[in-house]
Amino acid sequence: MIKIFNDLKNKLEEFKPIKEGVVTMYVCGVTVYDSPHLGHARSAVAFDLIRKYFEYKGYRVKYVMNYTDVDDNMINRANERGISIYKLAQESIALYEEMQRALFIKSPTVKPRATDEIPDMIKFIKKLDEKGFTYESQGSVYFDTSKMENYKGLFQKKEISEQDSEDDQFTQSDFAKDKKNIEDFVLWKKEKPGEPSWKSPWGKGRPGWHIECSVMAMKYLGKTIDIHGGGKDLKRPHHQNEIAQSESVTGKTFVNYWMHNGFLNIDDTKMSKSLGNFISLMDMLKNHSGVFLRYYLINSYYQRPINFSMDKMDQTLLSLKKIQRFYKNLNEYSVAKGKSGSVKGISEHKNQIEELKKQFLDAMDTDFNSPKAMGYLFSLINYFNKNIFIKKNQISNKIKEDLIEFLDGIDSFLGFINPQVKEDQEESGSIWKDRFEKLTNTILDFRKEVKSAKKFELADQIRDLLINNKIKISDQGIDYSWEIE
Ligand SMILES: [Zn+2]
Repeated sequence: MIKIFNDLKNKLEEFKPIKEGVVTMYVCGVTVYDSPHLGHARSAVAFDLIRKYFEYKGYRVKYVMNYTDVDDNMINRANERGISIYKLAQESIALYEEMQRALFIKSPTVKPRATDEIPDMIKFIKKLDEKGFTYESQGSVYFDTSKMENYKGLFQKKEISEQDSEDDQFTQSDFAKDKKNIEDFVLWKKEKPGEPSWKSPWGKGRPGWHIECSVMAMKYLGKTIDIHGGGKDLKRPHHQNEIAQSESVTGKTFVNYWMHNGFLNIDDTKMSKSLGNFISLMDMLKNHSGVFLRYYLINSYYQRPINFSMDKMDQTLLSLKKIQRFYKNLNEYSVAKGKSGSVKGISEHKNQIEELKKQFLDAMDTDFNSPKAMGYLFSLINYFNKNIFIKKNQISNKIKEDLIEFLDGIDSFLGFINPQVKEDQEESGSIWKDRFEKLTNTILDFRKEVKSAKKFELADQIRDLLINNKIKISDQGIDYSWEIE
């Protein structure tokens, strides 16, 4: 039985999926205006571990992670560089996906981009409007939080630092003066000169950030989803607002379990560009392997902050080598025939090993507590090294084979015990999907060039080549809404 710490209720709960054997999971993705940093890797690895652990336990996981490809940061950066936000997004997504491959992160089932989903966002805002939850002010559309019962009670328990950042967001908002209540948030932003915009019943503009996630989560996973994740900084107001608008439209619970990962601090200080303690992931990968970084990140409980320090790297590398060496030694260990030790001795070893395996899985079952689980893995390795390898005690072939099977099994979510095998598996799986996606994006870019040269017939031919009733393409991009198995 898997238990999850549900952040909305602030307690540990037994996980009960909506549909037997299936987990629907949405995680807020990145805003694609820059190259990924260590904090992005932290969140991506945390939810990859959770997703794969469900798969290890036999669930089928539908995992949606979006790309936010239109917002103030995107617009400012694109203007600074003199390129379109579309081009900026393409570049940044390519780097983000390179990071995912390096860290053995399985590609999400669907990776929608906000700008491809704008018609659905408009429909969603219309529904909110019909139900009386919105108002227009200065050409923008807002959600009226006073219309929702218990809005302020959502994610109420907060740490002091969260409260501070939240207050900043409200007071710094350009729109504060246009709102009825200070917590009200924008659903549709009126067009500003020089910014990308889309047509809507309220005039040209673009969607607010919160509406994007509600729409993409519900479109691909349904009105109620099992798990919604994201960084701790997203609890309020982002996830609070997602709940408000989603539940106001459907009248149903939006998410059954809310999970948030802790921050990544550098030498006890929050990582940020302005403080100059920002660690680019691509720089890290020049000096450390992706397997090592994955191991480093999994050694922290996803809920807790990670305090990153270069000083700890050597120690961490030694412990990773210990696990990998153990796996190799175990595989090479030959059980001597006719000299298998006393029956009593063997059953004692077997019981010890079984107990430690069970404790490892119990720790994972209890809110994916990976560092606690790793502690049991090391106890198992130490027990085996001390009692079997050093003392030259014998075990049966069955014990050896069972243990190898167990290690191979848990490596399907850990990904660092036997990285060689992992790479082979990835090669046959998500890497091909990613390559396919790259190819389709290349065709799409080519089609754009063709269109800008006004060769419309050829542009249509390219579109028809891609369409097989499943892939929809538009000038904005490709709709990847088909089910990837
Ligand atoms: Zn989100």
